[in-house]
Order: sequence, then C-alpha cells, then structure tokens
Amino acid sequence: MTEATIQRIAVVTGASRGIGEATARALAADGHHVVMLARSVPAMEAIAQQIASNGGQAEALEADITDHAGLAATIEGIAQKHGRLDILVNNAGITRDNLMLRMSDEEFDQVIHANLRSVFITCRAALRPMMRGKWGRIINVGSVAGVAGNAGQANYAAAKAGLAGMTKSLAKEMAAKNITANLVAPGFVETSMTEKLPDTIKELARKATPLGRFGQPEEIAAAIAFLAGERAGFITGQVLAVDGGMTMA
Ligand code: NAP
Repeated sequence: MTEATIQRIAVVTGASRGIGEATARALAADGHHVVMLARSVPAMEAIAQQIASNGGQAEALEADITDHAGLAATIEGIAQKHGRLDILVNNAGITRDNLMLRMSDEEFDQVIHANLRSVFITCRAALRPMMRGKWGRIINVGSVAGVAGNAGQANYAAAKAGLAGMTKSLAKEMAAKNITANLVAPGFVETSMTEKLPDTIKELARKATPLGRFGQPEEIAAAIAFLAGERAGFITGQVLAVDGGMTMA
C-alpha cells in the first residue's frame, strides 16, 4: 500500500457529541477507522452506526478523561488491537467556571486534571505505536481562552494555554519521527458546552467575533481533519485559531 492508501487508525476523545462527534464523522468520511472515546457509550454507538451506514468505519469505547490509568490502558489496548495508532485527537474537555476570587482548589484542580494532564497521558501512550508506524498526527483541542484569557475561566484558560506549550514541546521532540503535533483553538461554537451560557454572554461573544456568529462543530472538525491528513505533513507545532476572527492580531 502507498502512504495515501494506508487505512489510518484515529482516536477521538469526547466523541459522543459536539466537536468530537463532528470530528469522528469527518475523519471517517476521509476513510480513517475511528475509535470514539467518551463516557456515553450508547450515544457513540448510534453515531458509529450512522458512520457505518455511510460506508465509514467507527467503534465506540468507554473512557473517562479523569481516570488516567484507565485512559492510558485504553490507548495501549487500541494500538494493540489494531496493530497501529496513527491519529490522536484530544478533544474531550470540561469547564468549572468561576471568578478567581471565588474559585475553589477543587474547581482549579479538576479542570487541570481533566483538560491538561489527561492529554499528557494519552499523548505519551500514543507515541510508541506512532513511532513504530513512522507516522503520526496529534491534534489537541485548545481554546481562544487559552490564547487570550477569559474572565471566569482561569482554570480552563490555564489548562488550554498549557496544552499549547505541551503541543509545541511534543512537536519538537517528535519531528524527527515524522509525528506532527498541532493545537486547534476554537472560538465560540454551538455545542452543549456553550448552550448553558447566559444570553448576555452569548451576545458579547457574538459581538467579539468579527464573523458575527458562533461556529458550527463541523467547522472545527474540518480543520482537525485537515491537520490529521496526508496533506498537512509539513505543519507542526502550530496553534490554529478557528474562531471567526476573534483573536486575530
Ligand atoms: P461538549 O459538547 O460539552 O462535549 C464534550 C465532550 O467531552 C463529550 O463528548 C463528553 O462525553 C466528553 N467528556 C466530558 N467529560 C468527560 C470525561 N470525564 N471523560 C470522557 N469524556 C468526557 O463540548 P464541545 O463544545 O464539543 O467541546 C469539545 C472541546 O472543544 C473541549 O475541549 C472544549 O474545551 C473545546 N472548546 C469548545 C468551545 C465551544 O465553544 N464549544 C470553544 C473552545 C474550545 P461524555 O459526557 O459522554 O463523557
């Protein structure tokens, strides 16, 4: 098989809804075999069935980004079962918003643990199989909050900014192994994460976005799928804002 015809094994965390679901669908449409991870297995199974009925390949596995030993074992198990692991999309994430003045130690620690440490765990577990395959694509999902900060999200912004530093370090360490690592930093996107925001905040977000609207999950997934593909082989260590222009310099 040539490089272009190898079927890649792609792992997507947080694939049960929102940006992760759209990413799983986009990667499957590109011909990759997608392993979907999240806690909501029935939701992922329904998505996997739809992917299969469109001619794609996907499977659903239960995983919790707060259980780091379990998460590492899951990644290792996927690589073992398929004999390879080519693409890793670290998309799952949580928020525990509060002004710093009121933020508890727990709120800070939970977000760092779930959004930053978990990504270190999955990346480390994926590196050996990617090195064996002499090819790899790691795409971490950050946020405009990690680039510009956001009131009420010191914990989340710290985790997402941490992901940028981690991704760039990984990109430098792994470049010689033909493994790229990039961060996609979405702006405000219509998902269950933003649904719960008060209308006043949504309006402020819309006003702060030059394109004047929220993004759709598919618009973030398109950027992730591009970075996961053959054609993005010369792009590494980058932070790609997909934010309707919100953070342009
Ligand atoms: P979402 O709709 O809330 O979906 C979150 C996903 O993460 C779900 O699939 C959820 O699955 C999974 N997840 C949450 N806690 C988990 C846990 N403990 N273990 C395993 N999986 C867990 O969020 P989204 O808006 O699509 O966001 C996806 C990513 O984009 C996140 O990293 C987020 O920070 C980032 N982002 C989003 C926006 C936005 O405006 N929406 C903006 C910037 C960045 P289960 O509940 O089934 O486990």
